[in-house]
Amino acid sequence: EVRVRFAPSPTGPLHIGGVRTALYNYLFAKKLGGKFLLRIEDTDQGRFVPGAEEYIKESLEWLGIQPDESPWNPGKIGPYRQSERKGDYMQYALDLVERGHAYYAFDTSEELEAMRERLTAARVVQPQYNGITRTQMKNSLTLPAEEVQARLASGDPYVIRVKIPMKEEVRLNDMIRGWVMVHSSTLDDKVLMKSDGMPTYHLANIVDDHLMGISHVIRGEEWLPSAPLHVLLYKFFGWEDTMPQFAHLPLLLKPDGNGKLSKRDGDKLGFPVFPLNWVNQLDGDTAAGFREQGYLPDAFLNFLAFLGWNPGDEQEIFSKEELIEAFSIERIGKSGTKFDIAKAKWYNEQYIKVKSDAELAEFVIAEANKEGIEISQEVAEAAARLTKERVTFPQDLWKESKLLVVAPTTFDQDVAGKRWNKDAIKVLTKYTDLLSGFSGDFDPESAKTLLGEAAEVEEIKLGKVMQAVRLAVTGSGAGPDLMQVFSILGKEEVAKRIKFALS
Ligand code: GLU
Repeated sequence: EVRVRFAPSPTGPLHIGGVRTALYNYLFAKKLGGKFLLRIEDTDQGRFVPGAEEYIKESLEWLGIQPDESPWNPGKIGPYRQSERKGDYMQYALDLVERGHAYYAFDTSEELEAMRERLTAARVVQPQYNGITRTQMKNSLTLPAEEVQARLASGDPYVIRVKIPMKEEVRLNDMIRGWVMVHSSTLDDKVLMKSDGMPTYHLANIVDDHLMGISHVIRGEEWLPSAPLHVLLYKFFGWEDTMPQFAHLPLLLKPDGNGKLSKRDGDKLGFPVFPLNWVNQLDGDTAAGFREQGYLPDAFLNFLAFLGWNPGDEQEIFSKEELIEAFSIERIGKSGTKFDIAKAKWYNEQYIKVKSDAELAEFVIAEANKEGIEISQEVAEAAARLTKERVTFPQDLWKESKLLVVAPTTFDQDVAGKRWNKDAIKVLTKYTDLLSGFSGDFDPESAKTLLGEAAEVEEIKLGKVMQAVRLAVTGSGAGPDLMQVFSILGKEEVAKRIKFALS
C-alpha cells in the first residue's frame, strides 16, 4: 500500500517549498490510490512557534490538498504529532544501544568545544564526533562499564549517539537522483536522544515512518545528506525490508537562478514566498501571502505542480484531477527550478479568463462594496465579462470596470493634450444628436455604426478621434472594449457623459 507523508516542523509559516513537497506527496498518493498523511514534527521545543500548525492546516485546506490522516483527522496509526509520542522513542534508542549500534555519551559542551578546537587546530576540515574522535571522548564505548552504570544511576546528563561504522559504503537508490553512494567515514555519530529526553529529528522521523507504514519518503533535497544515516538506522533496527523508497525534490532557486529561494528574496522582489498571509508574533512580520495577493487556489496549485515537474508535452493548464492523472516521479527534474513569479501571474490570468461571469461577479461586488458602492448582480456580471481577459488578479476586475458605475469627473490631461481637438468635438457633438434619435437595441454593433455615421457626416476619419471618444466617456485613454462599455452604459448615460465632457 502506498502511504506517503508530509512532515513539517511547526517552526514558522509554511514556505512555498514546503507546500510543493506537500502537493507532490498528495499527487503521488492519489495517483496510486494510496494515502497522504500529515505528521507534525514538533520534538524541537526550542524552535516551536505557536500557531504554525494552524497555518499549515489552513494552507493545505486553501489549496484543497487535504491529508487522509492528520492530527485533526487521525487514522489508526497515531499519534500524528511527535510530541504526543515522546515517551516511546527512548525504548528504540535503548534497543540500538543494546545491540551495539548506539551508545551513551557524557561529554559536556566544554569538552565537545575543546575537541572541535583541537581538530580545527589540526586542520581537520569538518570536525566530527566519529569513529576516530569517539575514542578520546567520554562515552559508554570508552569508559569502564561500572562507571557508565554509576553515571547513569547518579543522573549524569547524557545523550545517545548512533555508532556509525568506520568503513562502510552506504547506498540508496533515490527515485529522482538514482544511486547515491556515501562512505560512512564522512558521516558522524549523530545524536539520537538529547539530554532532555527528547529524540532528535533523525530518530523520531525513522521510528515514525516505520510505525506509520510509510512506503515512500518524498521531501526536499536539503534532506539528501541525512538520507545515508537514515538508511543505516533502518538497517540497525532490522527494518530494511520495509524501508521506504526515497525521492528528494530539486531545490527552488532564486529568480535569477543564483542559489536557494528564501523569504528575503520574496520581500526584495515583491513576491510572497508564503502561501497565506502570516499575521503573527514573528517580529511583526506581515509579508503578504499568495492568497492575499489574489492568487486563485486552483491556479496556484497548477503553478506549484510545474515547479520541478512537467508532463513531457506542451500542456500547461491542468486541473487537480488532471494533475493526479498525469503526475509521475520520473518526470521530476534533478536540477533546481527557478522561481518565476511572472509564470505564477500567467497561471492566474488563465484561470480568471475561464471562470464564469457569475463567479467573478462576487469579486466585483466585494471590491465595490469596499469603496461603499452598491452594484447589482447584473452589472457585476457585465463588468466581469468586460474585463476578465485583461486582469491578473480578481480584485483588478473592479478597478478596470469601475468606469461602468462611476462617471468620470476628471480627464487624463496627457491624453486630452494630444487628442482633444475640433474634430473630436464635432464627432462627439454629432454622436449625441444621433443617440437621441436612436430607438433600437443599443448593442456594441449599433453603438459603433452610429459613431461611424457621426464621423462620416462630419467627414472625419473615425480612427483619428477614437481616443478622444474614449476619454470623454471614461476619463482615460485606455481600457476595456469601448463599444462594449457603451452598450452596457446605455445610450442615455453615454450621451450624458459626452455632454459633460463637452461642457
Ligand atoms: N521535519 C522535517 C522538515 O521539517 C521533515 C523532513 C522529512 O520529510 O524527512 O522538513
